[in-house]
Amino acid sequence: MGTKFIKTICPYCGTGCGLIIKVKDGVAVATYPDREHPVSRGSLCIKGWSAHEFIHHPDRLTSPLLRKGDAFQEIPWDEAIPMAVDKLRETAAKYGGDAVGGLSSAKCTNEENYLFQKLMRMAFKTNNVDHCARLCHAPTTVAMAQTLGSGAMTNSISDLAGAECILVIGSNAAESHPIIMGEIYKAIDRGATLIVVDPRKTAVVQNAKIHLPINPGTDIPLLCGMMKHIVDENLHDEEFVKARMEGFEELNEFLQLWSVKRAAGECGIDEELIRNVAKIYAKAKESAIIYCMGITQHACGTANVLAICDLAMLCGHVGKEHSGIYPLRGQNNVQGACDMGALPNVYPGYQSVSDSAIQDKFQKAWGAELSDKPGLTVTEIIGLAGKDIRAAYIMAENPALSDPDTSHVLESLKAFDFLIVHDIFLTETARFANLVLPGSCFAEKSGTFTNTERRFQLLRKAIDPPGNAKEDFAILCLLGSALGLDFSYNHPGEVMEEIALLAPAYGGIRFDRLERKGLQWPCPDSDHPGTQYLHKDRFTRGRGLFVIPEHTPPKELPDDDYPYYLSTGRMFAHYHTGTMTRRSPFLNREVEEAYAEINPEDAIHLDVKDGEKIKITTRRGSIITTARITKRVSKGCIFTPFHFTEARANMLTNPVLDPVSKIPEFKVCAADVRKESQDD
Ligand code: SF4
Repeated sequence: MGTKFIKTICPYCGTGCGLIIKVKDGVAVATYPDREHPVSRGSLCIKGWSAHEFIHHPDRLTSPLLRKGDAFQEIPWDEAIPMAVDKLRETAAKYGGDAVGGLSSAKCTNEENYLFQKLMRMAFKTNNVDHCARLCHAPTTVAMAQTLGSGAMTNSISDLAGAECILVIGSNAAESHPIIMGEIYKAIDRGATLIVVDPRKTAVVQNAKIHLPINPGTDIPLLCGMMKHIVDENLHDEEFVKARMEGFEELNEFLQLWSVKRAAGECGIDEELIRNVAKIYAKAKESAIIYCMGITQHACGTANVLAICDLAMLCGHVGKEHSGIYPLRGQNNVQGACDMGALPNVYPGYQSVSDSAIQDKFQKAWGAELSDKPGLTVTEIIGLAGKDIRAAYIMAENPALSDPDTSHVLESLKAFDFLIVHDIFLTETARFANLVLPGSCFAEKSGTFTNTERRFQLLRKAIDPPGNAKEDFAILCLLGSALGLDFSYNHPGEVMEEIALLAPAYGGIRFDRLERKGLQWPCPDSDHPGTQYLHKDRFTRGRGLFVIPEHTPPKELPDDDYPYYLSTGRMFAHYHTGTMTRRSPFLNREVEEAYAEINPEDAIHLDVKDGEKIKITTRRGSIITTARITKRVSKGCIFTPFHFTEARANMLTNPVLDPVSKIPEFKVCAADVRKESQDD
């Protein structure tokens, strides 16, 4: 069979680095960085370097599995597909199509996400389709669409290196997006000022000129205090505001409530420091704001993003190269899954399901009657299991680990009348399935991923899926055809041609145009070169809109019973629910067990030494984990990563939702901590 080298895209984070898989005699044996890749330019982080390690793991699913009591039995595809279709059809016939829910996947390609939402919408006339963007950047989609007209990163990753000021707020880019951190280093080398806002002293802070360790959940007070000072001192871009914005008077009136003194009191930062940071950000020729889940995963997540957009627009730092707003997307194709309409309220290209002209367009194109009623979100689909939702199809998502208040999620997963899970491993979620469909990993299929800077990129097949597992595209075509839909696609490129016809922003995307460096949307026609940065002469919505960011404190604050702030997040060696990274020997050697960071003063108070077991308890449950004593967290704060099945951080997290975007408040809740032996 010999040796070959296949250029493709990293399966982990939304940076979308280019990697080359070395295949020897049909086995993926190594990954290397792609020097010609437009984003990563010959670099990978340790996850990219070891991305081949999970591919041939003995735990891979190689056959469809049918639940028989507590065990699973292998069955052939010609039993599995008719069974999946019969059960979903039975449910829809008995309870209506809205009794079926579908979770699509930010790990799957654009074409697979397109087919998934098309299948749900056509076969069951339901919009109950969502995916894990709900748990990371749902507030971004809502708030940026409201203020700028487009819910995506305004600029390109390479723009960062030319920024004069970079404000990183609620993002540990050094661990979660290391290649993007590399662009920040380049900017610092050229003299840029890095300002970091984070309650933790993350690795990003080590390179910052100024660190603002705000009290958890006080981003809006800080941003409003900065805006108040900027307006008071006339540091804002008056010309930009006059020419391109609306709503300034309303914003200014609102800012009267936010003196710098009040802001300082709320967020625990010195007044002079707030003024100084506001001045640096506003006065720089080009300033960029980077944010991530430290901003979005709050009950006020949408308002947090609104405040960021307001600040950037106030200073005219949008619509220019080297400035802009950078929401760093988590999963490799979370941008694409949103773009492809794996959301309950929009078709591909963010076209509303409730707009009758758009509904008509899709009905004609697909030849089916569609629902104009927005569907349910991830947390609603899971929460209504066995009630409004009787059957579910989950493709490559793992809510048993990723969703808040896990004890309730596990109960819900048992409550479906029929649960189909389509994945590459028997995940914590798949263990609850009635039927498991074995899919393909990134190296075993073709298609496109869209990275965090809106770049469509080609994923190229390097090897075949193991055993009887199939390419996800093929599974979706089999299911669609068995449901009576015309899913007779021969190749994902044909699906992309259909997408281009229906979603204007992707009208010029074709596989043959993506070979060299991909294309950044909007790319409306086949001559368009793609778009490096958005909102150049006009915002997508016309004029930019200042929207009032109302502050609401975290829903659960420390008290006598639960005296600590608990925050959760990512770390450099593992990824999301650990399904792939924890099956990588190299990454497991880096970090092999769950842990929680605890401040030295708290450790003394609790009589806990580094490496000892602690029990963390919240109103939802408890976990036992290993203490890491470190000044990275402030006194009174605990941090634990969420990748570890043996110490599920989401047993603890608060499921309360942001009322607008419906993201749960993962980032802050109240917790009690004890040395584990005290509870024995
Ligand atoms: Fe992969 Fe993200 Fe690391 Fe790049 S930064 S190699 S995309 S995990």
